[in-house]
Amino acid sequence: MNLNNGDQVVTRFAPSPTGFLHIGGARTAMFNWLFARHHGGKALLRIEDTDKARSTQEAIDAILDGLDWLGLDWDDDPVFQSERAERHAEVAHELLASGNAYKCFATPEELSEMREQQRAEKKPMRYDGRWRDRDPAEASDGAPYAIRLKTEQKGKVTISDAVQGDVSVQNGEIDDFILLRSDGTPTYMLAVVVDDHDMGVTHLIRGDDHLNNAFRQLAMIRAMGWNEPVYAHIPLIHGNDGAKLSKRHGALGVEAYRDMGIMSDAMFNYLLRLGWGHGDDEIISRARATEWFDLAGVGKSPSRFDAKKLQNLNGQYIREADDQALALLITPLIEGELDAKLSVKDTELLTQAMPVLKTRAKNLLELAQSSLFLFKKRPLGLDERAQTLLDANARNLLVSIHDTLADLGDWSLEATEEKVKAIAESSELGLGKLAQPMRAALTGSTSSPGIFDVLILLGKQESLDRLFDQIEKT
Ligand code: GLU
Repeated sequence: MNLNNGDQVVTRFAPSPTGFLHIGGARTAMFNWLFARHHGGKALLRIEDTDKARSTQEAIDAILDGLDWLGLDWDDDPVFQSERAERHAEVAHELLASGNAYKCFATPEELSEMREQQRAEKKPMRYDGRWRDRDPAEASDGAPYAIRLKTEQKGKVTISDAVQGDVSVQNGEIDDFILLRSDGTPTYMLAVVVDDHDMGVTHLIRGDDHLNNAFRQLAMIRAMGWNEPVYAHIPLIHGNDGAKLSKRHGALGVEAYRDMGIMSDAMFNYLLRLGWGHGDDEIISRARATEWFDLAGVGKSPSRFDAKKLQNLNGQYIREADDQALALLITPLIEGELDAKLSVKDTELLTQAMPVLKTRAKNLLELAQSSLFLFKKRPLGLDERAQTLLDANARNLLVSIHDTLADLGDWSLEATEEKVKAIAESSELGLGKLAQPMRAALTGSTSSPGIFDVLILLGKQESLDRLFDQIEKT
């Protein structure tokens, strides 16, 4: 890393708040955060809200929420780009004063005529430098003007990108672009460079859709004589079909994944591996990621978003998660479903149920759903399949199951299993034939954890009562 001695790493994530925090943005944020944390540096956040027409408070909130959910914290308060317009203008005027920029009095009509002509002649459309060497005195008094950067027109410029390698562009391709518009407002290009400089940013890690901008930004940095940052342009995320990721691929804001029951740690791990690798390691904790993250591990080709892989990884995270933490995580979901608060005892029961419930869930919604039977009030409502299953025969079977279990002193997995097996044998039925009606009566549905686990979790009295409720109905 070509850092000067003693320099502290400073990165920034600079979203434009025109929508939710999408997956690509979230990954960029993570890489910036990880790189800074890895080097013991600073990770900064800048909200690029200069496009007032498209920036909304709702989007700002969604971005902050999404970052928070992913566990990304930032050093210092966020910088709001729109609040710094004066400083941006000041730098444009400095460039003007030093002869690195000039006033352009071309009217909008004149410029569109210029572009039309370039289009007709099939020439690249760029500003032709008509005011570059002209005396401003030639403009009429008080005429509005834009400030343009006087860019180098000969030779080429090379950026040694930490991800893309050396990338060069002919200087002639970079026109004298606008820094300050004739209404005095800064362009995005100017604002980014000034803010990055003032925030002391040393490493620019962002999507490679900004690589072209980097050449223009570098021209400004050099004209100001400022330190050049290290650039790292990361390839964009593509969909499974190889096309640029869009809503069509199921690419949503990160909050949508949270709402689908994806765990934050799983999302973090998935996005990390989407474009960065450390050998064959698949499951990587935040702590490890911070320890290992580097720019050398960022791949050069676009990665593909695979919603199924994310679900599977999420399932793994759920299985590995701490039982109590999981119980707390799904408590609000359960309370929403039940429209009631869980008591301390309920939460204990939920925690106790986690080992058997979490082996089956791919997301937190499924996990919450699968736990609802624990808290249902008697007599249980039966879903359609459970109702069909509980015919007269099945309800008859429940009588002997109920009575046999009622006599049981030791309410353990082994003892309940032994008893139910004995009934199966004496009535010459498979265990499944007994387990199904029991499941329907005990949980109100036809899918649940193992039936003996259900008996133990519900406890003797509740189990017997639920079985009895269904006997009564015949
Ligand atoms: N605001 C830009 C975006 O959201 C990022 C600018 C940058 O990283 O330089 O795409």
